[in-house]
Amino acid sequence: MSKYFSRKQGELKAYVPGEQPRNVQKFIKLNTNESPFPPAPEVVNAVAAAAQKANLYCDPTMLKLREDLAGIYGYTPEYFTLGNGSDELLSFAFLAFCNQEIGAAYADVTYGFYSVLSRLYATDTKIVPLDAQYCINPEDYAGLGRTIFIANPNAPTGIALTRLQIESILQANPDNVVIIDQAYVDFGAECAIPLVEKYDNLLVINTFSKSRSFAGGRVGFAVAQPALIADLETVRNSINPYNVNSLSQAAAHAILQHNDYYMQNCKVVARNRVYLTKQLDALGFTTLPSLTNFVFTKHSSISGEQLYQKLKEHAILVRYFDAPGICDFCRITVGTKEQVDALLDVIRSIL
Ligand SMILES: *Cc1c(COP(=O)(O)O)cnc(C)c1O
Repeated sequence: MSKYFSRKQGELKAYVPGEQPRNVQKFIKLNTNESPFPPAPEVVNAVAAAAQKANLYCDPTMLKLREDLAGIYGYTPEYFTLGNGSDELLSFAFLAFCNQEIGAAYADVTYGFYSVLSRLYATDTKIVPLDAQYCINPEDYAGLGRTIFIANPNAPTGIALTRLQIESILQANPDNVVIIDQAYVDFGAECAIPLVEKYDNLLVINTFSKSRSFAGGRVGFAVAQPALIADLETVRNSINPYNVNSLSQAAAHAILQHNDYYMQNCKVVARNRVYLTKQLDALGFTTLPSLTNFVFTKHSSISGEQLYQKLKEHAILVRYFDAPGICDFCRITVGTKEQVDALLDVIRSIL
């Protein structure tokens, strides 16, 4: 830390992303929940065409993409805005809907970025424990008087709430915004977007990073009633009106035109998840019931850290969390059938 850093010691605790090794082709990379499938070829062409016009600024209103999203999810373009990844939209949401008076609430085991943002914006935060089955209990979120952040399905557990459960949280917090961060929803959970019509306190945040093979392109989108979106837009336009660059906007447009390709890939991943879970079961693992593109799994004879280390020695990267309550587990991204089989072979040899 330099003497110029304006932050007090310990005030910030930066997010630590999963490893992105330089020699990535040496590894089977199952540590950051990326898609194993490449973008559709048209996406690559769209980026090349957009690059020809990169001397011009991109469209700060992102109108074409908001129209595309309205075509897929219903509603009108005023119900949508986009971010440089959903992480940026989460940051906008903290700035728009939390402050000294309005605190935040989220689960003790959930997406690590919430606590990073909570510290960055000095938000008073209530941490709500998961139940003994690692589930979010909707009743624990009734009338908290805070802005609520829920990853659904939750990460790194993979467990999802039903749409009815989400609805009960919305109904129990009519005077506060409830943010449903559904990064993994396309792998099988119930989508919260249809609830936007009914609840003016619901903000649904989505990403192209997991189900649409575009983690490197950094595109996320938010859906809510126009008044909430307008608040996010005020924040967005106060920070960076050009937050989604023209190459990513062109790519995202092409992605949404080939939405079926991506949703088909999600089905393949979901099938591989069921297969992986069964095989892990047979090897004595306990795996939480996931509706995502990863499994959260533990074995009585090897710790999460040991399994992570051993797999790394065999050129397979998974994620391990050195945190209370979950350090027995590894989070393993579900890849192609070939990747799953290679993983299982190595796990058998380790055991
Ligand atoms: C991966 C992930 C994100 C971040 O996605 P980006 O769009 O790549 O920023 C947000 N929330 C959850 C729960 C995630 O797992």
